[in-house]
Amino acid sequence: MTRTLIQQNLSNVREQIRQYAQEAGRNPQDITLIAVSKTVSSPALLETIASEQIHFGENYLQEAITKQQTLAATHSLPSLTWHFIGPIQRNKTTAIATHFDWVHSVDRLLIAERLAHSRPLTAPPLNICLQLNLDDESTKSGITSLSALHTIVEGILRLPHLQLRGLMCIPKPSDDFETQRLGFRQLKTLLTQLNQQYGLHLDTLSMGMSHDLKAAIFEGATFVRVGTAIFGKRPAL
Ligand SMILES: *Cc1c(COP(=O)(O)O)cnc(C)c1O
Repeated sequence: MTRTLIQQNLSNVREQIRQYAQEAGRNPQDITLIAVSKTVSSPALLETIASEQIHFGENYLQEAITKQQTLAATHSLPSLTWHFIGPIQRNKTTAIATHFDWVHSVDRLLIAERLAHSRPLTAPPLNICLQLNLDDESTKSGITSLSALHTIVEGILRLPHLQLRGLMCIPKPSDDFETQRLGFRQLKTLLTQLNQQYGLHLDTLSMGMSHDLKAAIFEGATFVRVGTAIFGKRPAL
């Protein structure tokens, strides 16, 4: 069967991940590819699902739910894993806790509390990553201080129905490989520190996008979130 362009792109990204992992002396199996499908239509998602893509990342709640419902109506679809990776408004927490398996962009305790209280009791605990704003860019979401990070971690550990898994970041874009690595290395160091300080086993580093995939894998990414390199350039919003 001939592959579509999206399927070819997906295959290329998977091959890159394998190659970078190998160069970094890592097991490629320890890196999970999240296809970031914001603004991408359900038929395009189906092309990747036909190529065994399971993990999808979405930024916009209503758009994501609409696609989930469209896909759910498709017969014999494998079970998919949905990751919410966008900024979280407090009035969206119930829907996010209901429709997603992972939330990567938690940066306030209030949001975590609301997610915990609205996670359906029949569902497994909601997997949580804390988003760090390492560059302290005021326009971006994310935790900006160590003390805020500790407050949120301590708060989340007391909440039911959540499973704290690790950290996420979106560093300032840079074309320089070493600069890219530096930000990711910081995230990894923070994860190690949290595990030591609190006796935790956080296992997730959600970092690396289309343009900085290699640096993220070299620094220990366990989830990479790739949109453009799979689905092509998104329309400007
Ligand atoms: C859009 C987005 C991505 C994917 O970015 P690409 O450059 O298209 O690979 C990854 N993570 C987050 C949080 C995003 O919003």
